[in-house]
Amino acid sequence: MSAHQALFDRAVKVAPGGVHSPVRAFRSVGGTPVFVARGCGARLTDVEGREYIDFCLSFGPLILGHADSDVAAAIRNAIDDGWSFGACEPYSLELAEWMCARLPWAERIRFVSSGTEAVMSAIRVARAATGRPRVLKFEGCYHGHADGMLVKAGSGLAGPAAATSAGVPAGTVADTLVAPLDDEQALDRVFDEAGATIAAVIVEPLPANYGVLPQRCEWIDRLATRSRAAGALLIFDEVISGFRVGLAGMSGALGIRPDLVCYGKVMGGGFPVAAYAGRADLLNLVAPLGPVYQAGTLSANPVGMRAGLATLEKMERLDGWQALEDRATRFFAGLRSVMEPRIEVVRRASIFWLRLASSDPVRRVEMIPAGQSAWYAKFFHAALRHGVYLPPSPYEACFLSLAHDDATLDEAVRALAAAAEDASDS
Ligand code: PMP
Repeated sequence: MSAHQALFDRAVKVAPGGVHSPVRAFRSVGGTPVFVARGCGARLTDVEGREYIDFCLSFGPLILGHADSDVAAAIRNAIDDGWSFGACEPYSLELAEWMCARLPWAERIRFVSSGTEAVMSAIRVARAATGRPRVLKFEGCYHGHADGMLVKAGSGLAGPAAATSAGVPAGTVADTLVAPLDDEQALDRVFDEAGATIAAVIVEPLPANYGVLPQRCEWIDRLATRSRAAGALLIFDEVISGFRVGLAGMSGALGIRPDLVCYGKVMGGGFPVAAYAGRADLLNLVAPLGPVYQAGTLSANPVGMRAGLATLEKMERLDGWQALEDRATRFFAGLRSVMEPRIEVVRRASIFWLRLASSDPVRRVEMIPAGQSAWYAKFFHAALRHGVYLPPSPYEACFLSLAHDDATLDEAVRALAAAAEDASDS
């Protein structure tokens, strides 16, 4: 029996499905999960000593790669100073000032411990500010696992049996309106019928939780315009895209100023750090200033704050987003040359998704080719055999890091070409 199987057999006896977050269980690709012992740079090493080039990167946070030396030094220093105070400290102040100085829409910021919390809190603020009950979200966008957001959400939930979650009261879901992506008419219908009851419109400006489904700027513009006209707040969920699609994320790329923005992943450098930020008048509704209660024992944890700041400062110092773009341009040209025409490489900045090719642009969930799940399960395991670790779901995005140098990426192209061949043979 493999070391992985032995560990998994133990894990299923203590945790539901053997995991602490569902996609890790390999349910949608089959087989036994790989147990990782270490990560270094672009690579993971499993408990049997096998190495993989990692394109999952903890589902996005590790933009500098695993165990980056500068982030590691910041963490070591932080630990030497003690790791949780539950009191005011200068570290969250530094990170907050860094972010607010660079993101014009972040007039105020509140740190929390997960993207789920950031979204849940931003929505509470929006409801308090508008006095309205409803939230409009889009089919296939995932915004964490708060009750009201588990309606037609993303990859961990993707699949015929579980379009939504059990345990969510009908009353909660009644306040969540869902519209398809990429559809101006549907948008207009929702606003015409229910605009006056909508507190907030929440969207991943680069939907990346049901595959990567890049949207037309016109659709996002219409969304922003209709939200404002209806008096609904615009919440950009940039948990994936924030500090990934450039320093200013999709808000910067689109030139749209959201009322509230949710961050996570990259901003915490791989620690449980997230934030909601936005207009001062909205954030000032939050306790202790205002009537919206939101708190956290470990919020703004100093180790996470210092890891996050070290990550962002290093990216800025190295012009990391441009460096990633240069690597990406070369890598994706190579990857496309071996994957096309059967497989399409969808990419935005250092985020990408491999899916069965389609004759039309895929901007909505139902346009994803039907064979994606079956193909990806084969491809994923072939990639593992060839030494590449991809996210264990046909609908999760892949990521590059600054630790993925050209030599590593060339090796990855060769491995993925071989994996694609294996997957089409079997
Ligand atoms: N929003 C988006 C866009 C996300 O991708 C995620 C996580 N994948 C979340 C919210 C939830 O974040 P967390 O897993 O930290 O709760």
